[in-house]
Amino acid sequence: MNRETDQEWQKLSEQILTDIKEWRRAHPKATLREIEEEVHARMSRLEAQVIQDAAQESSSRAWSGAGPEQRPTCPVCGTALQARGKRTRRLQAAGGQEVSLTRSYGTCPTCGVGLFPPR
Ligand SMILES: [Zn+2]
Repeated sequence: MNRETDQEWQKLSEQILTDIKEWRRAHPKATLREIEEEVHARMSRLEAQVIQDAAQESSSRAWSGAGPEQRPTCPVCGTALQARGKRTRRLQAAGGQEVSLTRSYGTCPTCGVGLFPPR
């Protein structure tokens, strides 16, 4: 992880923990169930951010400048893909959080298939 991501995670976790403490002070009679829901909802925000950044990190190893043997290949014919810049996709993580990933997009010079390689 780079420093910037590190600081953002730090800031977001601190913010969420502070918000939870404040919410708890404002709701002294909350039940265990209510506390659980509140904490879960807030932690989900951190989770979504961390998932997004962590996934971004691996996909940002750009392959556009790489030689054909390092580039992902077409699932149809096996030809090395040609990089066509980056595109952002919105995806749903397993926990239901929406994350947006910017990934290298490529097309196959042989059969014309366009795709986001899975890495
Ligand atoms: Zn192909």
